Amino acid sequence: MLLTYLGTAAAEGIPAVFCNCPVCQEASRLGGRNIRTRSQALINRDLLIDLPPDTFLHKLQHKLDLSAVRYLFVTHWHMDHFYPQELTVRGSYYSHQMVSPELDIYCAAETKALFETIGWEANRETLDALHFHILSPFQTVETGDYRVTPLPANHMHELDRTGHPHPYIYLIESEGRRILYAHDTGIFLPEVWDYLKTAGPIQLVSLDGTGGTHENGPKSGHMGLPDDILVRDRLIEMGVCGSDTQFILNHFSHNGGMVYDKYAPLGAEQGFTVSYDGMAVEV
Ligand SMILES: [Zn+2]
Ligand SMILES: [Zn+2]
Ligand SMILES: [Zn+2]
Repeated sequence: MLLTYLGTAAAEGIPAVFCNCPVCQEASRLGGRNIRTRSQALINRDLLIDLPPDTFLHKLQHKLDLSAVRYLFVTHWHMDHFYPQELTVRGSYYSHQMVSPELDIYCAAETKALFETIGWEANRETLDALHFHILSPFQTVETGDYRVTPLPANHMHELDRTGHPHPYIYLIESEGRRILYAHDTGIFLPEVWDYLKTAGPIQLVSLDGTGGTHENGPKSGHMGLPDDILVRDRLIEMGVCGSDTQFILNHFSHNGGMVYDKYAPLGAEQGFTVSYDGMAVEV
């Protein structure tokens, strides 16, 4: 699999949309890898993870043919991961000569519900080509060359009282190789650790880096470097990750306190690659 990080920021982006903090000012001044757009990743050219408001920008920056995307997996409906309005311009007279006119969308019921609040904007032809599949935790779906297992994230605690939101992290397998894409999650839930024990070897683990070098602790919905180290060490201890596993940090916020140029060497010292927009990794 070829995993390409199209966007690597948390919701506000770096430099953040309405911010003048020192990190955002430094990122603006330095440019390059210090500039981060909202989180999105592409596997090969046909499996897309998340649909943030920066999707159009990603198409421009990386010269993507997004009509070739056949499968879209959405982690959750926070705005940096799902901007459903974009789907209203897919197909019909908005998009011609598409590689894949049909799109299978895999997500939680709450995520689909958000699309339905704006779905009236889409015409019939567009709607008919969008095939929603509601995921259940730990229920593997097989689609094309991929086997994808949604695992419940430790995230969105504020909604636990009002419903049963299911933010997901994803275990993605293809041709015997595995990627664990784990963003917008704190330290994993006990049932996720139990599942991962039986998951088989994982060659790439992409972990939430929202907290920068700060420790977020087990109650947070995000992780910082000390939490990432804890998760990494436990995965190695369990035997599902080893010396051939790549550990990557992703999903950064200015509140983490550091631009890419400063964080990348610190991450490397601890055995992590710090992602940047456009980074591609072979798995
Ligand atoms: Zn996010
Ligand atoms: Zn800022
Ligand atoms: Zn989120």
